[in-house]
Amino acid sequence: MHRKKPLSPNALRRAMARADDKLALARERLAALEPGGTPERPIEVASASLVEPRAQSAPCLRCGGPLRIDEHTAESIGGLRLRVVHARCAQCASPRLLYYRVGSALPS
Ligand SMILES: [Zn+2]
Repeated sequence: MHRKKPLSPNALRRAMARADDKLALARERLAALEPGGTPERPIEVASASLVEPRAQSAPCLRCGGPLRIDEHTAESIGGLRLRVVHARCAQCASPRLLYYRVGSALPS
């Protein structure tokens, strides 16, 4: 079972990069299951002014760093009016999309 073959520094680096990619992919898949990760599961906010503060408080999926908002658009996806935040990590520059729905969480 134990096959001990010392890895060269380059092979080790490649193996670690692959592991990082796998982890990042797993985190991204997980994020798609969280509210806001897909258009089907938007985060509900009471007003449009809350979209950007909420997006800024979300961490980068890859490194946990702070997100910087590139663009905030209003789009119609699957019949829903959604706010889409195009954000990018301030540390590792990995992109993240967050979906919000405005006005559906108003107090009754
Ligand atoms: Zn990052």
